[in-house]
Amino acid sequence: MNALDLGAEFLAATPTHENRSTEQLRTWARIALEFGDELAAAHPELPQLDIREKTGGKRPGEVLLAEYHHRDHRVTLYRDSLDFAREVSAKRGSPIALEKLRRAAIAHEVGHHLLHGPRTRELNRRLGHRVLRLRAHVAGADELVVHRYAQHLSGIDPLQLDNFLIDALTGA
Ligand SMILES: [Zn+2]
Repeated sequence: MNALDLGAEFLAATPTHENRSTEQLRTWARIALEFGDELAAAHPELPQLDIREKTGGKRPGEVLLAEYHHRDHRVTLYRDSLDFAREVSAKRGSPIALEKLRRAAIAHEVGHHLLHGPRTRELNRRLGHRVLRLRAHVAGADELVVHRYAQHLSGIDPLQLDNFLIDALTGA
């Protein structure tokens, strides 16, 4: 599967998109991936951040890799979740080094931060989705942008990792 296939599949699995056409989902996925490419071109380096590590990211049915604290620009990395992600990726035959996972998790949080405000409005404008003549948000598109951004900055494929984690959590 290429990035566009994975991206369209990711959107298809996002609630509210159950009845959308494949064509529509692929169009939105392409726009979101391109937006992520642009974001990475504009911000190719991670900013200086206060990064702390702790455990407690892994809960039943959920794996939280990192959190961004907007107030003081601090990122919390969850060591137990990163270890779990490393084990799962190794089991699936695509081992990811802890350092890359850490970088991808940080980049993901930074990506969300960068996407705040005007960039989200620009993304919604490009997606062009309207409900009753009002511009509407496309569920999952922001997440896809951020995954793409993190992919550029870390060299790993977050969508593939996401699929591995979902499979591991659901016992597939
Ligand atoms: Zn996210």
